[in-house]
Amino acid sequence: MTTKAQSYLHHFRNIGIAAHIDAGKTTTTERILYYTGRTHNIGEVHDGAATMDWMEQERERGITITAAATTAKWKRSGTDQEYVVNIIDTPGHVDFTIEVERSMRVLDGAVAVFDSSQGVEPQSETVWRQADRYGVPRIAFSNKMDKTGASFELVLNDIKERLGAVAAPIQYPMGAENEFKGIIDVVRQRAHFYTNDLGTDIEETDVPAEYLDKVAEIRAQLIEAAAEVDEDLMMKYLEGEEPTVEELVAAIRKGTIEKKIFPVLCGSALKNKGVQLLLDAVIDYLPSPLEVPAIKGKIEDSEDTQEFPADPEGKLAALAFKIMADPYVGRLTFVRIYSGTLQSGSYVYNATKEKRERVGRLLKMHANSREEVTELKAGELGAVIGLKDAGTGNTLIGDGDDKVLLESIDVPEPVIKLAIEPKTKADQEKMGIGLQKLAEEDPTFRVESDQESGQTTIAGMGELHLEILVDRLKREYKVDANVGAPQVAYRETITKQVEVDSKFARQSGGRGQYGHVKLRVEPLEPGAGFIFENAVVGGTVPKEYIGPAQ
Ligand code: GDP
Repeated sequence: MTTKAQSYLHHFRNIGIAAHIDAGKTTTTERILYYTGRTHNIGEVHDGAATMDWMEQERERGITITAAATTAKWKRSGTDQEYVVNIIDTPGHVDFTIEVERSMRVLDGAVAVFDSSQGVEPQSETVWRQADRYGVPRIAFSNKMDKTGASFELVLNDIKERLGAVAAPIQYPMGAENEFKGIIDVVRQRAHFYTNDLGTDIEETDVPAEYLDKVAEIRAQLIEAAAEVDEDLMMKYLEGEEPTVEELVAAIRKGTIEKKIFPVLCGSALKNKGVQLLLDAVIDYLPSPLEVPAIKGKIEDSEDTQEFPADPEGKLAALAFKIMADPYVGRLTFVRIYSGTLQSGSYVYNATKEKRERVGRLLKMHANSREEVTELKAGELGAVIGLKDAGTGNTLIGDGDDKVLLESIDVPEPVIKLAIEPKTKADQEKMGIGLQKLAEEDPTFRVESDQESGQTTIAGMGELHLEILVDRLKREYKVDANVGAPQVAYRETITKQVEVDSKFARQSGGRGQYGHVKLRVEPLEPGAGFIFENAVVGGTVPKEYIGPAQ
C-alpha cells in the first residue's frame, strides 16, 4: 500500500542508458535532455558540446567514463502528468565495467541502446548480462534507423537470438536508412511523421495503408506476449476479445517490470526521431521506485537483514555510488536515497567506514545547471558536498540508527599494472597526492609503492583505464610522468588455464573475433580477474562462460 507521503514516487523514474560504445548512448541522452527542456542546444557529441561528458578528455576520446546522475522532467504526451526522470549515465567501455555495475545498482530501469545497423554488439551483450544480474527491467531502443544498413528486424532477431530475451516491438519504423520517415506506435496504432529536422514538428496520422498488415501482425504478437504475463488479458485473449489500449499498456508494463517482456522501440537520436516516444515509453513501462523490490541492508554482527521500502518518512538509507572531484566545489559524492530523507547540514553515519560524517550542501544536477536543495528524499539521486570519507559503495544511514550495510558493490581485482615515475623530482609529492585522490574516486584503481626500490606502480582494469588516469594526473594535478610497459597484474598467482566460451571472447576481444580464446584465470570463480594469454586485455569472466580447466 502506498502512503500519502510516498505518492510522489509514482512520478519518478530512475533510469540508466546502457549501450555498446558508439551505439549512440551519449547522443540519445543528450536528446533526452534537450526534449526535457533543461538544455537548449543540441551539441554534437564529439565537438565538445556534449553536456553529459563532463571531463575534457572524455570529450576528446568520445567515451563516457563518469556515472553522473542528471535530473530531468517530462510531461507524458497527451496528459498533464509531469514526471521526474533521473538519468544515470553508464559508461560503455569494457575497461569500465565496474562503473556500469555501480550504476546498475542505483537505477530502477534501463534503456538499452542498439545500433540498428549492427544489431546486438559484444559490449551490448555484456551490459545486458549486467542488467540481468542486477534484475533491471529494460526497454530497448533500436537507434540509428537512418544509417546505411539499418534494420529493425536485425535488432529484434538479435535480442531474441543472442540475448535470449522476449523482444516485444511496440513500434515499427516507416522506412529505413535515407528513407526513414517516422514511427508507428503499434500499441495505439498511430503513425508519427517527422516533418522538421529538430524533431519538434510531428504529424500524427492513422497507420498508412501499406503498413496495416505488418502492424496488425506485430500487434497480435504483442497482445499474445502481454497475455502471457497478465491473467485478465489472457482471459480476453482466449475469448477473442480485443484489449483496450490501457489494458495492453498495463500488461506490457507488468511484463516489463517482471523482466518477462522487453519492449523494443526505434528511432534516430541523431536525426531527432523517436526520442519523445522513447521518453513516453520510459514513463509507461519502466518502474517507479515503488515498483522495484525494497533494498535490503545487512544488520551488523548478525545474519539478519532489514528492508528499506522507498518512503521519505522511513529510516535513512542511502548508497554512495560515485565520487567525483569537481573543479568548483571539491569532492562530490553522488548518492541514491532509498529510504528516509537526507538533510543538508545534518550528520549521517557511514556504516561502511564506521564514521560519523557531516553532510554539507546538497545538489541536484541538471543537464547544464545545478540546483541547491535542502533535502533529498527517498527515490531521489543527487550529489553531496562535504562528505570527506564516503567512498563508492558506502552505506549512509541516520546517525544513531541500527548499523546496517546495504548490499555493497563488488570491486574486482585489477588486471594490469605499470610502473610510474614523475619526470622531475619536484613532481614526486604532487604525484603522490594526485594518485591518492584518483584512487579514492575509483576503487578499481590501485597505487602501490615498493619500499625498497621506491618505485610506484599503478594497477587497473585495462590499458585504456590506466592511460586515462595518467592523462588525468597530467591535466588535473599537473604531473608529467613516465610510465613503464604494462604488465599483467598478479601473474605469479595464476595456476589454471581454462577455455572460455567464444561468445565471451567476442565480447571482450572486440568485433569479429570468433572461436575459443584461452584465458588464464585464478581463482576459478565468476568475478575473477582474467587475462588473455597473448594480449593485454583484462576484465571479469561471468560464470556461464567458463569451461573446464585444462
Ligand atoms: P556512445 O558511444 O554510445 O555514447 O555513442 P555516441 O552518442 O557518442 O554516438 C556515436 C556516433 O554515432 C557519433 O558519431 C554520433 O553522431 C553517431 N550517432 C548517434 N546516433 C545516431 C543516429 O541515430 N544515426 C546516425 N546515423 N548516427 C548516430
